[in-house]
Amino acid sequence: MYYEPIIGLEIHAELKTKTKMFCDCLNDSNEKQPNKNICPICLGHPGTLPVINKKAVEFVIKVGLALESEIPEFSKFDRKNYFYPDLPKGYQISQYDEPLCRGGKLKLFLSDDPQESSKEIKITRVHLEEDAGKLIHPEDKKSTLIDFNRAGIPLMELVTEPVIHTGKEARLFSQGLQLLLKTLGVSEADMEKGQMRCEVNISLKPKNQKELGIKVEVKNLNSFRAVERAIDYEIKRQIGLLDAGEKIIQETRGWDQVKEITYSQRSKEEAQDYRYFPEPDLPPLHLYSKIKGEGLFDLEQMKSQLPELPWQTKQNLIQTYNIPSQGANILVQNNKALLFFKDTVSKLDPEYKKIGTPLADNYLTTDILGIKEKEGLDWKDIKLNPDNFAQLINNLASGKISSRVGKDILLDIIHSNQDVEEIIQTKGLGKIKDSNILISTIEEVIKNNSKAIEDYKKGKENAVQFLVGQAMAKLKGAADPKELEKLIREKITG
Ligand SMILES: [Zn+2]
Repeated sequence: MYYEPIIGLEIHAELKTKTKMFCDCLNDSNEKQPNKNICPICLGHPGTLPVINKKAVEFVIKVGLALESEIPEFSKFDRKNYFYPDLPKGYQISQYDEPLCRGGKLKLFLSDDPQESSKEIKITRVHLEEDAGKLIHPEDKKSTLIDFNRAGIPLMELVTEPVIHTGKEARLFSQGLQLLLKTLGVSEADMEKGQMRCEVNISLKPKNQKELGIKVEVKNLNSFRAVERAIDYEIKRQIGLLDAGEKIIQETRGWDQVKEITYSQRSKEEAQDYRYFPEPDLPPLHLYSKIKGEGLFDLEQMKSQLPELPWQTKQNLIQTYNIPSQGANILVQNNKALLFFKDTVSKLDPEYKKIGTPLADNYLTTDILGIKEKEGLDWKDIKLNPDNFAQLINNLASGKISSRVGKDILLDIIHSNQDVEEIIQTKGLGKIKDSNILISTIEEVIKNNSKAIEDYKKGKENAVQFLVGQAMAKLKGAADPKELEKLIREKITG
């Protein structure tokens, strides 16, 4: 039987406001001392009154504008009633039927595949609520501690339509959203720190059937990898059960990132009744008005002040610099590399700009970032700067040095800020044009590799590449491999 996986996401992100959602306590997710940023309001003491943090409302509307959501004229907060030890009030202030943003869409713009990257994921809503405290379970397992520093931190919740079909799509959506939140400056959205948290709903729809299958929820996904792997695992698990004639249980499952499996946490036979009602301690929000001067925000002005959005940045990179989508994806997610790239291109010799620009992108996004990761370097450890990197690219683009030499020099200048021209001169790395040197090298290689010559004569084409490699090694990479190949072919056939 063929089943279509139907996946929806719920993503929470802590907003980067100075203070908490309804009080003046510091909003500091890095605070290590427990219960430092607390007060009677965020501890839910009787008789205290919450006051709305306007900045948090503004941040969510900004997200909505970037996602092209509809922003209603009016909105309000509601009480979501439930008991949990990390929720001192016995209810959470959230939004029920009048969220700050309705609808909207986000493309999977970080995909390298052009068809996938133009796929739009529809968004149901984005609303604002408060975070709960944190339960800490010490190793003795005899007690549980509560840290309320997080209680009352403004939390944005985004819900997508169930239009996602694979783990990869869910990962690309989450990565794209994270980048948007960072670009807008509304959240650090660090998943490892719990500043962004993903939950996924998965059901399987049997082919030729209209209604969806039983929905399973997976929580505690704290990395993009976990989002992708948990969904792929869950799809396989559910197909296995259905094919064996078993039933899917409606439940919440957790993710074991070591074993890479989901496990049952609790069954959800009945929807929990939260008894939502309008929050009586907070006034409804008049967000904006067509009459100037009325309402809390000027949406037109907010829209015009949005920064360049990441998918626009990517498009601009591809169009302006003519670089491939893969390179643009890396640059758009790495602001330091992006600035470094633009700076380098501005310093390229105009004569070699056309060939040099994609070369600079390739050397930066694969080699430099690769070395940086492999050696665990920070940007500040990298001695290379846009000036000598542009010098290196000029030499590669003009054909003065081979790409093998280019990579050696790159390693040198990453660790020491040497002048590229100087390295080429003192080490004699420029491509050797003197045909006497090239020919005598080739003759030596041919003499020492009679087996390769025999192979070639038997029709083994790659024997030539082997000989080119041998000659290249003897010349320490300082030759044009195409020129070597031409000379070798002349020698052994002539
Ligand atoms: Zn407080």
